[in-house]
Amino acid sequence: MVPAHLNADLLAKQILEGNRASLARAITLVESRKPEHRAIARDLLTQLLPYSGKAHRVGITGVPGVGKSTTIDQLGKNLTEAGKKVAVLAVDPSSTRTGGSILGDKTRMEQLCNDPNAFIRPSPSAGTLGGVAARTRETMFLCEAAGYDVILVETVGIGQSETTVADMVDFFLVLMLPGAGDELQGIKKGVLEIADMIAVNKADGDGWARARKAAAQYRAALHIMTPVSQNWTPPVMTVSGLANESLDKMWNKVVEHQEKLTESGELQDKRSGQQVRWMWSMLEDRMKSLLRENESVTKLLEQVEKCVESGTLPASVAVEDVMSQLLTSLKKD
Ligand code: GDP
Repeated sequence: MVPAHLNADLLAKQILEGNRASLARAITLVESRKPEHRAIARDLLTQLLPYSGKAHRVGITGVPGVGKSTTIDQLGKNLTEAGKKVAVLAVDPSSTRTGGSILGDKTRMEQLCNDPNAFIRPSPSAGTLGGVAARTRETMFLCEAAGYDVILVETVGIGQSETTVADMVDFFLVLMLPGAGDELQGIKKGVLEIADMIAVNKADGDGWARARKAAAQYRAALHIMTPVSQNWTPPVMTVSGLANESLDKMWNKVVEHQEKLTESGELQDKRSGQQVRWMWSMLEDRMKSLLRENESVTKLLEQVEKCVESGTLPASVAVEDVMSQLLTSLKKD
């Protein structure tokens, strides 16, 4: 039985009024794997879709210890002081409810967690990256409908999580440590390709000179790469999340990017592209589940996989066999 307060119409109304408890309840529904909860969540998302899309979506990544939570806490505080409503979400595919997510953790964002204009939600524990990312996107829509102006999505570089988050936001910020040469050696090239800005954090006290040196190296590295957008060249800055140093400059760049991409129409194209890619990735996941959950197909798959492995059946023929088995069994149902 679904309790009366978990009613899509009522929740939609309360979320549009900015009711935080209802927003939290709705996110729990979105994260739930129970079919009856998913049904309400789908209804709710459909009702709220027209009210989403207004927020500025920003992804933030960096290795553990780089200062993500310190910077998000301070940046978020600066934004709420400027009259914005800020939601902080997280994508951490390794998180489990019991183990606890280190991302989007309220205890790590002391200023924001007591701020009535901030909403912090740790990473969903849906297991796979695809599952976590899907729940986070839906949570982002709910937060937008609830009137949040800025959505900060925190992630760490586990597997594909950075690329996945970059593909759900307008702006992707990469935080770096002031380690100069060594850091540059270890940095994943892929991250530079998706960064809209690099901010070398901890540019304070003893770290200041090293941070500047590192920034110069990142600048040189970015210089030889082709920018993703024709309308934007990713800047490299030095900041201090702890000392609230240059965070305003950093945010001004984020705003400038949004303005440039909005004017050129690129933002709209970017968001539409993200939606379509997301639809395909969900569809592919569903198709895979359809194959794996069909008894006659799984039996056949076991057999053909062995034959393909031993070289007695061409992979292309195996695919044809599996597809026709799937289609036959779907027709029967
Ligand atoms: P996260 O793991 O990326 O979220 O990093 P944290 O925000 O938890 O920060 C890790 C450590 O670095 C903490 O001890 C912070 O106090 C410290 N830290 C974070 N930002 C700065 C900064 O701008 N300057 C200095 N000196 N320390 C910082």
